[in-house]
Amino acid sequence: MRIAMISEHANPLAVLGEVDAGGQNLHVAELSAALVDLGHEVTVYTRRDARDLPESVRAPQGYRVVHVPAGPAEHVPKDELLPYMAEFTRFVDREWRQSPPDVVHSHFWMSGLVAVVAGGNQQIPVVHTYHALGTVKRRHQGLADTSPPGRIRTERMIGRNAAQIVATCTDEVRELGRMGVPATRTTVVPCGVDCEHFTPDGPAEPAGPRHRVVSVGRLVPRKGFADLVAALPEVPDTELVLVGGPESDRLAAHPEAVRLRQLAARLGVANRVRLLGQVPRDRMPAVLRSADAVACVPWYEPFGIVPLEAMACGVPVVASAVGGLIDTVVDGVTGVHVPPRSPGELATALRTLLADPVRCSLLGAAGRERAESRYPWRQVALATARAYEQCRAVAEPGPLAAAGSM
Ligand code: UDP
Repeated sequence: MRIAMISEHANPLAVLGEVDAGGQNLHVAELSAALVDLGHEVTVYTRRDARDLPESVRAPQGYRVVHVPAGPAEHVPKDELLPYMAEFTRFVDREWRQSPPDVVHSHFWMSGLVAVVAGGNQQIPVVHTYHALGTVKRRHQGLADTSPPGRIRTERMIGRNAAQIVATCTDEVRELGRMGVPATRTTVVPCGVDCEHFTPDGPAEPAGPRHRVVSVGRLVPRKGFADLVAALPEVPDTELVLVGGPESDRLAAHPEAVRLRQLAARLGVANRVRLLGQVPRDRMPAVLRSADAVACVPWYEPFGIVPLEAMACGVPVVASAVGGLIDTVVDGVTGVHVPPRSPGELATALRTLLADPVRCSLLGAAGRERAESRYPWRQVALATARAYEQCRAVAEPGPLAAAGSM
């Protein structure tokens, strides 16, 4: 198949960990690479957000990335990108008139908008993955939500017009049902993990005499880092290593880093909290392996790739029971579930787990097994390609439909 991916703000070639660059970038990159491995042709359309980006470039993994000129050639926060989507749509519409793809897979709501308009113009089936839902974000962030006002309405419109919705977890299917998106057009295909890069064996970053808990994510409040810091006074002999945000030289001035450090100082645990800033992907397995437990305690999480990376490294995960983490982390088998935003229960879960190294290694081994059996990107790509095939079969008039119309 000739597959067009649209990922308006999340460039698959971007560095991860900074603001607006995380799981979606990785998902688009790994899924595209795995689809190429299966013999498909993949082009990813993403916004040109720096002057020095070439118009089109072939990634080493074989997919092509087109940097679409839409708005200024500089970083623009994703919540301010909507005004440039008309330009984006005109660009792909022109390209597809010359050479139409068999299927379009859009990622995030603004890409979905581009896809249903440009794909609809040319009867190209559209598969959409939301990655995050405006309704959920509004529920959790209230007035702090900076999404443009039309987001939720647009997400409903995409749900009505896309041929298939690929949700990444079962919790999302429930949310989509509440929005009126029929379950009949929704397929669950999770995100994946590179089980050859993230392995239990291999070097680990040196650890001190204390237990170590690692947590990874963009430095934004909803990732729950503050809940971990707040839990730490009740988790003795343990250091907390926080990964993500800007590179270490710019970290000190980052507002969320300042807030976390102030909280740690106020609670008397500053000497047990370390912020590493952005860690390159190559170094991530060694950082995860150095942990006795990886904590992923977001307030909400559309999927959450970090728990899978920890599981693939054979490390137990303490996870808040939200979104994708309900599916990936099995309570009592590969880790421990805690309620979100509950430092007290988080402290109890960590203290109990860290006191029992045998249980830690059993949970870690089960995590590796689960990651390997269910989440390799090749499996994710095969399931996604099946969803593409299904909507192509529906989109193309079969012999019966053709005969009926004679
Ligand atoms: N990541 C990274 N370096 C960092 C911080 C994060 O490579 O400094 C990676 C992390 O390993 C994971 C991705 O970024 O692969 C984050 O994905 P996730 O779905 O957990 O969170 P999101 O950022 O999409 O909310």
